[in-house]
Amino acid sequence: MKIQIELNLILKIIVNSIFSSMLSHSQILKEKFGYDSFRFNQEEIIKTILQGQDAFVLMPTGGGKSLCYQIPALIFPGLTVVISPLISLMKDQVDALKVNGISAAYLNSSLSEGEYSFVFDQLKRRELKLLYIAPERLFNNGGQFMEFLKDLNISLFAIDEAHCISHWGHDFRPEYRMLSSLKNDFPKVPIIALTATADKLTRDDILNKLQLNTDKIFISSFNRPNIHYFVEPKRGMYEHLLDYLAQHHDDSGIIYALSRNSTETLAAKLSHDGFFAQAYHAGMTNEARKECQDLFAKDEVKIIVATIAFGMGINKSNVRFVIHADLPKNIESYYQETGRAGRDGLKSDAILYFSGGDVIKLKNFAMVEGNPEQSRIMLRKLSQMASLCETNECRRKAILNYFGEEAPDSCNSCDICLSTREKFDGTVIAQKAISAVAELKSRFGLTYVVDFLRGSKSEKIKVSHKNLKSYGSGNEISKEDWFCYLKDLISSGYLTQLGSEYPILGLTEKSSAVLQGKELVFLVKTISKQEAAGDEMPYEKELFNELKLVRNNWARQENVPAYIIFSDATLLELATYLPQTMEELKKISGFGDVKLAKYGKPFLNVVVTYCKHHCLASKISEKIPKRERKELREHDSVTKATSFDMFKSGKTISEIARIRELSFTTIENHLAFYILDGKLQVNDLVPQNKIPRITAAIEKHGSALLNPLKEALGESVSYGEIKAVINHLKSSQN
Ligand code: ADP
Ligand code: ZN
Repeated sequence: MKIQIELNLILKIIVNSIFSSMLSHSQILKEKFGYDSFRFNQEEIIKTILQGQDAFVLMPTGGGKSLCYQIPALIFPGLTVVISPLISLMKDQVDALKVNGISAAYLNSSLSEGEYSFVFDQLKRRELKLLYIAPERLFNNGGQFMEFLKDLNISLFAIDEAHCISHWGHDFRPEYRMLSSLKNDFPKVPIIALTATADKLTRDDILNKLQLNTDKIFISSFNRPNIHYFVEPKRGMYEHLLDYLAQHHDDSGIIYALSRNSTETLAAKLSHDGFFAQAYHAGMTNEARKECQDLFAKDEVKIIVATIAFGMGINKSNVRFVIHADLPKNIESYYQETGRAGRDGLKSDAILYFSGGDVIKLKNFAMVEGNPEQSRIMLRKLSQMASLCETNECRRKAILNYFGEEAPDSCNSCDICLSTREKFDGTVIAQKAISAVAELKSRFGLTYVVDFLRGSKSEKIKVSHKNLKSYGSGNEISKEDWFCYLKDLISSGYLTQLGSEYPILGLTEKSSAVLQGKELVFLVKTISKQEAAGDEMPYEKELFNELKLVRNNWARQENVPAYIIFSDATLLELATYLPQTMEELKKISGFGDVKLAKYGKPFLNVVVTYCKHHCLASKISEKIPKRERKELREHDSVTKATSFDMFKSGKTISEIARIRELSFTTIENHLAFYILDGKLQVNDLVPQNKIPRITAAIEKHGSALLNPLKEALGESVSYGEIKAVINHLKSSQN
């Protein structure tokens, strides 16, 4: 029986490779890549390309840009040429394609002469579906290579990291400029340009320079829901870091630090404390850096402590944490660096250790000599980064708003949303703080005042100060809490901070009223931090680790990084749904036909044996798409239920929003969920006369993203009304 299934599979692969052009794009997604559904607007993009049109794709890192051209490449009769600036990424992509049984190759300076001519022969024999190439190679030898390509039946050009063509982008590469002539040389061949970072200016520039015949710009949301954001105080960073790493022993991650020196010191310290970490910075030789990257890719080094030089060219999908030991210089860098976590879609952490001192240090770097305009921009970006760390609002919302995207008030997966805060009468605390500043004659900084209040025995506190009345008056409050309270007092104007390099605390007009007991002061206290509710079902941890070992063996045998064989996401599904037959295995995301035939049996054996030992049965019938699971979870959440109860008791959305101190949109969203299971009707939330227009827009633009719908429908329709109609359509489909 089993043999027959495998024979069938092999036969199918042979037939498929002959007739792959006859498969639809959805079939290719499942059979070649093993995935169940398209992400973001992948499907729309692919359809556009298949119609022979140009397209421009803006999608966050890990979003799945590659499939947007890889699937058309398998459907088109000729060759797809992929232009990419990063040598290490080319190899990765080609390895990943080959493991899925797709014929692909790359041309770049890392190849020997023999390897080079082998690829040329493959091209001449038309054996390749995809060719990855660096832009400068494309225009080599006075255009000879371009002439060679013209004889080859090119079906598609894909330009990866397309922002490199623009001066406005953050990573301009002169060799990309030559791509401007592509459209003239191949007027009939569609071009797809892809990038993860481009503002409006850069976007227009890319369209212009590449002469794309399209206004089709596919923009995905920049939200990375699986990345959880945390900002921690930099004081006590090392202990916090050790704690964190101890709890994440099996995970890979990157720690970013500002200077070469600090990467080396921190890596040495961590290694000394039992966490093997390697430093990485631009001062190392090329070979040393390459080795470091390889070891990291192959999971042989788990922790890299790096300057920002590390990252470009890292395709590793199972980076579980990105930690900033120093403040990034702007939100763009922060987003890009944290974005290297969780490309496989599994939960990952971004932790930033913040101190006001870093802001002051970075201010000096931000000054561009002889360019006041540039300095001003850099300083503004730095202060926006600092605000992100100091805000009391959802971090995810702050990031998305920065990039011009709407976001709900709470994400339930950042330190702000996960902590419970309480306002309390902090008048006595404020009086202690103000007295201390007064007694110290407004001549000392935050740290000194805190140590003084806590009665520190340190020699740093002047002897004469140790006799003052306030000395030690706040010793029952922790250092960390004192810093928070003082910052609160500053931001509400009861104290002030003067001077930029070594700021000192001073009194304000409002100070004396507090001392005289004429004014109550309210402070905010963090009561508890809860764990983020995971999206994941419970899984067999031990089995997951066994599967990782099997994967590592295959990876070593085939000399590729482990994540090329299977992503962590695939192994996690195996350890969650425990498939028992080849048919069930097929339902696991990541098992395309080729991988199924090659690795199916060995991986299945591990699962089956494990289940026998532990008396476990298959749970494959519980596998439902992630999105639905997430919605079910949110649906259950208490906050939504509260809004629902209030609505049912007759309150309007505006009233609920006011009472709960949440936005109108948030309450609308809460309520829209209840349309899914019929507890509310669409008419409860949307006036009847708006429904047909919203329905028509959803049919036209799809329902994956709200922003384009909102744009099409205009001011008179709210986000919540759109969401309500989407849910109404969903529930009537079921
Ligand atoms: P990007 O180039 O946008 O950073 P990739 O193309 O490398 O992202 O894709 C990131 C990961 O997501 C890859 O492992 C890829 O195979 C996977 N992926 C892409 N599309 C899908 C999909 N529709 N379903 C499941 N996994 C996907
Ligand atoms: Zn949040």
